[in-house]
Amino acid sequence: MNVLDRAALASLPLLPRPLMRLLSKRYVAGERLEDALERLALLRAQGFPGILDLLGEEIASEAQARAVAASYGEAAQALRRARIDAYVSVKPTHIGLRISEDLAFELYAKLARRCTELDSFVRVEMEDHTTTDSTLRVFERLRRVADNVGIVLQSRLLRTPRDVEALAVGPLSVRMVKGIYLEPPEIAHVEPEAIRRAFVECAQRLFQRGARVAFATHDDLLAERLVALVRTGTIALERYEFQVLLGVRDWLWHTWRDAGHPVRVYVPYGPDWRAYCTRRLRKNPQLFRQVLRDVLLGSRRRPRTT
Ligand code: FAD
Repeated sequence: MNVLDRAALASLPLLPRPLMRLLSKRYVAGERLEDALERLALLRAQGFPGILDLLGEEIASEAQARAVAASYGEAAQALRRARIDAYVSVKPTHIGLRISEDLAFELYAKLARRCTELDSFVRVEMEDHTTTDSTLRVFERLRRVADNVGIVLQSRLLRTPRDVEALAVGPLSVRMVKGIYLEPPEIAHVEPEAIRRAFVECAQRLFQRGARVAFATHDDLLAERLVALVRTGTIALERYEFQVLLGVRDWLWHTWRDAGHPVRVYVPYGPDWRAYCTRRLRKNPQLFRQVLRDVLLGSRRRPRTT
């Protein structure tokens, strides 16, 4: 981390709430579920279905985990009521993975059952490497009791190609990401090109396994390779989509949508936005510079060089 990043990060807790809210506004729908529903409806009108994320992670008690799972159930129901094409995406430590794997499994399974009734879907997100094994175990248990669940895999981690092979046979839905957590070099790729290569190779292998794959990225270079992959493999539109974060490089998602690719937008909301944004920025200080640059210059414009 360079000196500027260090100074910027040290100043984070000192930023006044209105300034922090301004920084996070383009990336977080708001504090209330209604804010997220409003944003999702606007996106839908532009041809983008959504993903709903209630901000938070690393909860400390079983009661909190149960409350979070209940909020997700209510959110899924509200999406259905508003006829919004969006599903919920849940971090394992937000519904108790650190407390107990059984608790996380129980709450995911209950949410998946509720989402089955609502004809919807649940994505199990992936957090840092200390949770990978337990998250995959919970996911495999879930797959045995529900068919409307998907997982996230991170191309940054050296283990991921093995994880792809180890997943049980059967219907499979995977969101491929690079991985937001800066992991130790002993267990992770550090070079951007190696992370991209691993991303494409894992996606290719997942298609060979018959999986549905979501490409969650804003990296246009990587996206070109993924488009080539689906074209050469004649992968049907139902088997892939791009997924993007609210407010990040909007010009890119419009380009993909206009070229006929499905694009789904991830919309976070919730009262925990400040803590969440601060944790994210601390875990990956380069993001802080990106956010500042995007807020100051806007990310809707296509950059001159890509
Ligand atoms: P990068 O090379 O990191 O980014 C390409 C360009 O996009 C950058 O130059 C920058 O301009 C812009 N950019 C990217 N991210 C941001 C941002 N947050 N703010 C401002 N500008 C940005 N990671 C996990 O570990 N687990 C998950 O469960 C998970 N779920 C995700 C769900 C979705 C829908 C998306 C889009 C990402 C998710 N991620 C998750 C994050 C992912 O792992 C990457 O950290 C993130 O997408 C940035 O990588 P990139 O592929 O966009 O490429």
